[in-house]
Amino acid sequence: GGKENVLLAEGIRSTLTLLDHKIKSKHIDLKLTIPDNLPVVCGWPGELNQVWTNLIDNAIDALPDGGKLEIVSELDKRSANEGLEFVLTKVIDNGAGIPEDIRDKIFEPFFTTKEIGKGTGLGLDIVQGIIKHHNGSVKVESKPGHTEFSVCLPV
Ligand code: ADP
Ligand code: MG
Repeated sequence: GGKENVLLAEGIRSTLTLLDHKIKSKHIDLKLTIPDNLPVVCGWPGELNQVWTNLIDNAIDALPDGGKLEIVSELDKRSANEGLEFVLTKVIDNGAGIPEDIRDKIFEPFFTTKEIGKGTGLGLDIVQGIIKHHNGSVKVESKPGHTEFSVCLPV
């Protein structure tokens, strides 16, 4: 199908509902911040839900029991004066972080540090493909105790 106007708040909330069991069983402390007046982005809602699912699922896997998960969507202020507007969505966890020596490999297909059967290594490869399809960008920042995936999507 063609592109649609997508309300990110809806997709993120329904993703969290799907992952609710995993979030509750790990006693994750979840904080979701999405302003009511966030602009819609133009895209494919099913694909974007796959992005939120993959990023949030990874964050939960990285967290210990009682860990913190924060999801923030906001209008990207840096882009406002360039005529183009973007919505920035961050998925932040306070898990162990991504070791520096593997940071440039995590977006490669089939790269995983999870046990056999627990990870396919395809999640971030899929995320990157979908974000490219939306003319957006994705980046990661990580240090021990703080990992942040930022997804930038055109309004
Ligand atoms: P999978 O989840 O199947 O392993 P992904 O492509 O989703 O595959 O992720 C690849 C790897 O990136 C993971 O195995 C893990 O080592 C690392 N990773 C991704 N997200 C995080 C995170 N939030 N914290 C720590 N490591 C992460
Ligand atoms: Mg994954």
